[in-house]
Amino acid sequence: MSHEPLANWNGEEMPLGEVRVSVLDRGYLFGDGVYEVLRVYQGQPFLEAEHLGRFRRSLDKIAIVCDVDRLIERMRATLEHSEVQEGLIYMQVTRGTAPRTHRFPPSDVTPNELIYVEGFDVEPYAEAREQGAAAITVPDLRWKRCDIKSVNLLANCLAAQQAAEQGCVEALLVHEDGTVTEGSHTSVFGVRNGNVLTSPLSPSILPGITRGLVTRLADRCDISLHETSFTADEISQLDELFLTGTTAEVVPLVSVDGNPINDGRPGPITRRLQRAYQESVAETLSNS
Ligand code: PLP
Repeated sequence: MSHEPLANWNGEEMPLGEVRVSVLDRGYLFGDGVYEVLRVYQGQPFLEAEHLGRFRRSLDKIAIVCDVDRLIERMRATLEHSEVQEGLIYMQVTRGTAPRTHRFPPSDVTPNELIYVEGFDVEPYAEAREQGAAAITVPDLRWKRCDIKSVNLLANCLAAQQAAEQGCVEALLVHEDGTVTEGSHTSVFGVRNGNVLTSPLSPSILPGITRGLVTRLADRCDISLHETSFTADEISQLDELFLTGTTAEVVPLVSVDGNPINDGRPGPITRRLQRAYQESVAETLSNS
């Protein structure tokens, strides 16, 4: 039996199942909120400053005023009280509870702030990381501000469900111009002739925190990396393909839409970056 996640709801600590939210919460009615997910290794949040920096930027971009320093204190206390060693921290802030009207509510309406800490029973992507995984391509149906980590995830959910129904770990989202933007919940990298390729930062993708780390690790490993998109048609010419994400870490993709990538096995550059990722976790833990 897994432990129930421990939550902090607007400053009060309680088991996640005891949190009660009004149906007039603007996150529930409009998806008017933003979120963040951090990985916990050996009881320590990984890449905390980077995640919290992105959280502040997401809040700013949709003009929610919230005391993030106070949330950080709550996050650390909840993590400590949860005693979770391996797992995730989820943080979400919505514009608050107010009578339903599209325009923002009066400024005395306060945001609803949720944090919870969830321990892993089983590491979700362990097998995919080892064996390599399959993906499908689907049209990218999302809005034009995918750089904001908003809780509006309907298009992402539909894509992920389609992938799951076909026995795949991820759906690669294909923009109208044919380029692969990212996955439904991961960033995407290709390898061609020894060069790693990934979509440049723009409003069309989420600036993945793991994407940023892998970019720095490639530099450290003397692997050339270009922030250049590739198209869905070019996938068949790639030597390697992989995903990155907070939970996924670095996952090799060995087939897309039923067609193998190269010889259908994880490639050497992906393996090198997987090792570099583990080294980076170990290094962070030894410095904490
Ligand atoms: N792209 C999308 C659309 C995501 O939802 C996520 C994570 O949830 C990512 C990329 C990976 O981002 P990160 O590495 O910060 O987890």
